[in-house]
Amino acid sequence: MSERFQVEIDSAALQREIEALAEISEQPAPVVTRVLFSEADLRARKFVKQLCSDAGLALREDAVGNLFARWPAKNPSLPPIATGSHIDAIPNAGRYDGVVGVLGGLEAIRALKRSGFEPTRAVDLIVFTAEEPTRFGIGCLGSRLLSGALAPDKAAGLRDRESVTLDQWRARAGCAPAALDSVRLARGCYRAFVELHIEQGPLLEREGIPIGIVEKIAAPATLRLELSGEGGHAGAVLMPARRDALLAGAEIALAVERAVTSTGSADTVGTTGVFRIEPGAVNSVPCRAHLEIDVRDTLQPMRDAVLRQIEQAVAEICRRRRVEWNLETLNADPPAQCDTELVNTVASVCEQLQLPARRMISRAYHDSLFMALLCPMTMIFIPCRGGVSHRPDEYSSPEQIRDGVRVLAGTLGTLAAR
Ligand SMILES: [Zn+2]
Repeated sequence: MSERFQVEIDSAALQREIEALAEISEQPAPVVTRVLFSEADLRARKFVKQLCSDAGLALREDAVGNLFARWPAKNPSLPPIATGSHIDAIPNAGRYDGVVGVLGGLEAIRALKRSGFEPTRAVDLIVFTAEEPTRFGIGCLGSRLLSGALAPDKAAGLRDRESVTLDQWRARAGCAPAALDSVRLARGCYRAFVELHIEQGPLLEREGIPIGIVEKIAAPATLRLELSGEGGHAGAVLMPARRDALLAGAEIALAVERAVTSTGSADTVGTTGVFRIEPGAVNSVPCRAHLEIDVRDTLQPMRDAVLRQIEQAVAEICRRRRVEWNLETLNADPPAQCDTELVNTVASVCEQLQLPARRMISRAYHDSLFMALLCPMTMIFIPCRGGVSHRPDEYSSPEQIRDGVRVLAGTLGTLAAR
């Protein structure tokens, strides 16, 4: 990194903007709630667009509302680089998740501009639509469509709880009136994507390290399992005749744990987070059980092997207990490996800035997971207090945010100069 990327971050301005964006919420401060296409979400988009225009960036919005704010290049024929994140927030959230990557990304660009740097290739700030799954039950809607991970016709069929479709919502919200298949970008359209984000975990704070460089993003697979046995009177149905759906489910939950721990890797995790039974009476044999199972890993073959093991266990247990089963995979996104060269670039920027950094895994997933399908990708993490996120008391200090923006600016400068 050469000296010209030793940029000055205007931390006071950035904090004012974070504050102002937090005020745009469906609920009073300190709660931040900005559900996709709600009145607050639309006002927040307007606020960010204004800041981008003020910074002299050229704006483009696609058919699902992804926003691209471009700092044009000396050489427009080179693929641009990009940074960005999201500004939608789940109900009862805080002010930093996503926002640090959007407003921090904007400040990184402004700081580079102020330093007199002229990018060889263009720099885009992307504000992704609906990273949070609140309205349509699917996370990373914008980046899934950008990367082709979600088919446009499947997206068009999405409905919210009031049965309003995505098409109806995006018309209401004033998105570009093109078809959803216009959203997709070609592989290689960007030279690189780097997202700044709060860690949403405790490691950086615990270790007193200001910067995390993400090497892998774990991805979940979600299974839904319906079990149906036979109910009956708890006194009258004798044990050899039982087809107890709860007992089958209980054995399956233990089989999930066994399958997950059998990989021997600490990165494999599995959770049976939902377990409901019917009829749920003390003197009645459970006739039905509904389970939802979340399995995550940073390596897809490992995770998929666990999924197969779970399915085999379900078949064996249900055969033995004479319980019928229906297993559905709700989603199984591929985990992503970050680009080694990009990770090394971020590491050398940290070194130049004399900011200690550690390499780490993102155990939550982000728009970067899908950007990895389009171009080399990595993420920069900053600490957040107690690892707390998705809560009103989510907090990163102005200094922690400034350090993250300095690293992002240095990284974008380095990449945009090449
Ligand atoms: Zn986020």
